[in-house]
Amino acid sequence: MADTTPNEKPDYKSVLASVDKEGRRRWVEARIVWGRWRRWRSALAIPLIAFYCAIPFVMIGGKPAFQLDIATRKFYLAGVVFWPQDLTYFVILALLGIVGTLLTVALLGRVFCGWFCPHNVFLEMVFRPVEHLILGGPGNPGKTPAWRAALMWFVFVLIAGGLANAGTAIFIGADAFHAYVLLDWAAHPYATGFWGILFVCILFNFGWFRDQTCTIVCPYGRFQTAMLDSHTLTVAYDAKRGEPRGHLARADARAASSFELRASSPQATAETGVGVVAGSPPPPAPRPQPQSHGDCIDCGLCVRVCPTAIDIRNGNQLECIHCAACIDACDGIMDKVGKPRGLIRYASEEQLAGRKRQILRPRTILYAVVSVVLVGVLIYRLQGRTDLLIAPLRQTAVPVREADPAGRDCVRAALPLSLVNRSDRDLRVAIHLPDALEARVVMSQEFLTVPAGGRITATPIVFIPRGSFSTRHLDVALEGRDEAGTVLGMAMTAVRAP
Ligand code: SF4
Ligand code: SF4
Repeated sequence: MADTTPNEKPDYKSVLASVDKEGRRRWVEARIVWGRWRRWRSALAIPLIAFYCAIPFVMIGGKPAFQLDIATRKFYLAGVVFWPQDLTYFVILALLGIVGTLLTVALLGRVFCGWFCPHNVFLEMVFRPVEHLILGGPGNPGKTPAWRAALMWFVFVLIAGGLANAGTAIFIGADAFHAYVLLDWAAHPYATGFWGILFVCILFNFGWFRDQTCTIVCPYGRFQTAMLDSHTLTVAYDAKRGEPRGHLARADARAASSFELRASSPQATAETGVGVVAGSPPPPAPRPQPQSHGDCIDCGLCVRVCPTAIDIRNGNQLECIHCAACIDACDGIMDKVGKPRGLIRYASEEQLAGRKRQILRPRTILYAVVSVVLVGVLIYRLQGRTDLLIAPLRQTAVPVREADPAGRDCVRAALPLSLVNRSDRDLRVAIHLPDALEARVVMSQEFLTVPAGGRITATPIVFIPRGSFSTRHLDVALEGRDEAGTVLGMAMTAVRAP
């Protein structure tokens, strides 16, 4: 590889490294290099892969640990079932996800992409190692012996099938997956068809599309890259130390030639003694010469191991997923040439410039505080979460003064309610007012049935003794109780005395 000069630098800001000048795809043949970061990533990948594959089949308290049941509009998380009526929880979770992402990106850059993202975990820890094992190294399956390519695709098909199983179970549930897809796939074309589409997508993604998912499709990567600042920890090349780059041998040659040039000058002759004739006084010892190049020997290994084919020496780029493969590659090279590690390392721009990296800065403090508040709100709401959600509706009938069936002087009011069942079983509900009020509730039937995950409306008529009103307004707590008297849900409403 020729030494790179500024004029020869590719236009890396406007051209994808994986696309050639004609706009055709350049197949990324990323090499796998072992180093401390690869070992850490592998150690993390094992539990992550187990988690991603097993989570749809794990049950907590008889309910799925994670299931996104679109058909019945239910979402299971950690054994708790959420219904569309639980939108507030999703809003809080979504806000938490956004703010948590902002905080993580501000502190650690794209750590999710390189270390946790299922796409990169499976591509770099499963599919690419399998490819290298079978093809004997990085290679384009289209250009390798047919039997090796066929074997590789056969193994890819098996892995993609396994992942499609887990993906399908996330959407239809472990039991339905077992019954519909494994045992009786022909009788359930929708479930089987979903599995088939997922399988093709997974095989296409990991077998062919690969890095383009990160560089072309994923909006999350672009969003994260835009959120980096000069204090964010990124995978960075230390240009001050590495430049001007040059091949080791050529650099040495340059140093030598520079030394010879200097030696041929009269001033240099006096300094170094080169060119001094025999019999002259012994020349002074040569002074150490300044290194003519930086620590980067321009071996290009950091580019060849990059799964998105970028050259990190050009600075942080949109395509960098912070996988740290180039750090391992460069550390290995530095070990070989006897230079200190860390020419490419995790560092912020501030650290590279020799300044201190600030973790606590206004945006990280703000994100952390908002995250803590959102977590607190979520916990508070989850603790108060009941199976029955009672929502008072607008009262259209004006309350009147009327004697109740027992002849007491009461305020009679109609209280329209919406009753939402957030559990996965039918609920039989009676509406009560606090016993202390000695109020009477009249409904068309004593117990209303609210179907699992369903919503009904009801308009109980309440008779509240006139003596309970100290002013013209009375706030009353409405309770929904089951047949055993257990309170399933509660709501506050106001009754106005005539
Ligand atoms: S691996 Fe290190 S030495 Fe080799 S080109 Fe990259 S930065 Fe330079
Ligand atoms: S530049 Fe380095 S950290 Fe970024 S994607 Fe390439 S190998 Fe990974």
